[in-house]
Amino acid sequence: MTTATGTAPSGPRAAGIHWDLSPLVPDAATARTRLDAALERSKAFESRYRGTVAGIDGPGLAAALAELAEIDNELSRVASYAHLRESVDVTSQENKDLAAAVDRALVQAGNALRFFDLEWLALDEDVARPLYDAPEVARDRHYLVAMRRFAPHTLSEPEERMLSERSPAAVSAWQTLFGQITSTLEVPFDAGEGEGVEPHTIDRLLAHVRNPDRDLRKHALEALYDGLEPQVDTLAHCYDTLVGDRLAMDGLRGYEGPMDPTHLRNELPGSVVEGMMDAVEKHYAIAHRWFRVKAGILGLDRLELHDQYAPIGEGRAVLYPEATGLIDASFGRFSPRIAEIAGGFFREHRIDAEPRTGKRGGAFCAPVSQDASPYVLMNFTDRMDDVMTLAHELGHGMHFALASAEQTALSAGTGLALAEVPSTFAELLAFDHLMEIETDPATRRSLISERVEGSFATVFRQTVLSRYEQRAYALRAEGGTLTAGRLSDIWFEENEKYYGDALALPERYRMGWSYIPHFISTRFYTYAYVFAHLSTLALYAEYRRRGSAFTDDYIAFLSAGGSKPPAELLGALGVDLDDPDVWEPGFAEMERMVEVAEAG
Ligand SMILES: [Zn+2]
Repeated sequence: MTTATGTAPSGPRAAGIHWDLSPLVPDAATARTRLDAALERSKAFESRYRGTVAGIDGPGLAAALAELAEIDNELSRVASYAHLRESVDVTSQENKDLAAAVDRALVQAGNALRFFDLEWLALDEDVARPLYDAPEVARDRHYLVAMRRFAPHTLSEPEERMLSERSPAAVSAWQTLFGQITSTLEVPFDAGEGEGVEPHTIDRLLAHVRNPDRDLRKHALEALYDGLEPQVDTLAHCYDTLVGDRLAMDGLRGYEGPMDPTHLRNELPGSVVEGMMDAVEKHYAIAHRWFRVKAGILGLDRLELHDQYAPIGEGRAVLYPEATGLIDASFGRFSPRIAEIAGGFFREHRIDAEPRTGKRGGAFCAPVSQDASPYVLMNFTDRMDDVMTLAHELGHGMHFALASAEQTALSAGTGLALAEVPSTFAELLAFDHLMEIETDPATRRSLISERVEGSFATVFRQTVLSRYEQRAYALRAEGGTLTAGRLSDIWFEENEKYYGDALALPERYRMGWSYIPHFISTRFYTYAYVFAHLSTLALYAEYRRRGSAFTDDYIAFLSAGGSKPPAELLGALGVDLDDPDVWEPGFAEMERMVEVAEAG
């Protein structure tokens, strides 16, 4: 197997591995000029097309979409350039100014272009149908059809305007209050790192749940509850108000259930989602089995909540050049073409891997634009985890690259239900390869436990979260106020269903709902993670079954981007969402991983 060519030898922590943004835009001054030009073009589009959509024909619609795609490309490219620059040097004033200019321009362009969507939505179905069926717009057919799915729930323009004008006070204010409380909350805590008692934020306390020291894990969670306790009534009130508002809006917009807007956005039928969550709940026993295995490994009779993410074994160090070689080998045995696309990130300096002052944390893959290549940011710290992160982000990268090559700018992107499929699939490819070649027992143990626990945190825990939300909305719809006490009861009951008697929940975990941001920002957001993860496991089972015959279909799936709904894209790969047993291969994969872990 060839190594990932083009990677300069790097020292520890990927020293010197910085990206080169110059192929996107040469410099900040050029970015501003191009931004202004794109904004002018958006305004020109508005003066040319406003008021004309009702009388447009197929070729006219195709011309308008082509112009929109070009504007989208240019704005995305310049905006990505600015945000990528800022993400590796958040302190630079030039970067901040450019990012702010971009944000302003995007709002202005959005205002100029919004009429087009609204006029398209306002068309009667018998006018719209011949238009979206016109051969000239075949490549954007799904985009055009899918946009109209919100039409029956869209109000008149003055009504929509009124709602959006009042949104800062009715919605954002409560979200901001929640954010302020949870992000500024600090609890005095001694993490035993020699610094004595120090103020700890929620995130900092939660990071200790992966500490090898059991007492420290326990005390960190207790400190978290100490910090949350005085705030839970206010946090519950934020949630109660938001849920009340969402239910009222649902009534005005003619939605039948509180999950309908989310299902519509994800393009998934409610029955499929409900069937999936039922199936997940039927398989909680897989988690119970793992919790017992893990208790045995840790020498405990039974796990307590603070043991859930206790590390098992420590992975060995991996330097960046080895990591890129592992990625190349993992992807290469799946498909040389996929490895070639991943190799492009290394060769063309489209990865920024070295952690340094002023660079943002975490990792992401930026699609950039349909006419440019994607970029990856990560913070490589020589851990085996970082190899998985690299695989994950490159998984997104190959999706963006392949979809951009085949689709228009308007049809390349996918919704939330499928966005995490290629990234999770890429992690599974890397995991399988590592399990075949890795000989260090502690590294193997940590790889396996992280994979198992990662799957549980996504599939099981996110289902618990969605069930909790369903009950909260139902209670509020019946007229019940969502008090901290009621939310705590629902939260604890749903969690007990998951953990069963395999893991002991402390009484104070009743407050566990209170700091979770998804409930506040976007309702029922979390089931899309479950869907994506289970879909990926099902696809991986197909790959195991069909071997290399699966590869071309998978590449076609990536290349299709968002040009079809999720059910159609997955169906072409043998994952039939109408089959009630569709998720069984996914659970079998999870079971298999627990067996591997059990065998050590
Ligand atoms: Zn991702």
